Amino acid sequence: MSLAEDAKPIMDLIEQKQNCPLCEHSAKFIGIDSGRKKKFYCTNCKVFVTHKDSVEDIAKLPKTIREAISKASNQCANDMVLLILDAQDVRKVNWHCEPESNWS
Ligand SMILES: [Zn+2]
Repeated sequence: MSLAEDAKPIMDLIEQKQNCPLCEHSAKFIGIDSGRKKKFYCTNCKVFVTHKDSVEDIAKLPKTIREAISKASNQCANDMVLLILDAQDVRKVNWHCEPESNWS
């Protein structure tokens, strides 16, 4: 294993700051799934996971949809996180709770 490959999982777990794409408040994320996904921690929207390339798409969704996703995230059980998929298309965007153990 090269040094770069060896270092990547450690980099992934470093918390970084980024505004929440759902509510625009300051939030934190860690990279998971070999950096392909971001796991956000927001005081308003709890914990949610999305593809790293979907974050901008989520921020561009209509406010009513972002509020609905935030509400759904708050309604996930404590050991669950919200997974947000297909955010690039407002007609296809979907979300559901999954066990947090799938995304840690
Ligand atoms: Zn938020």
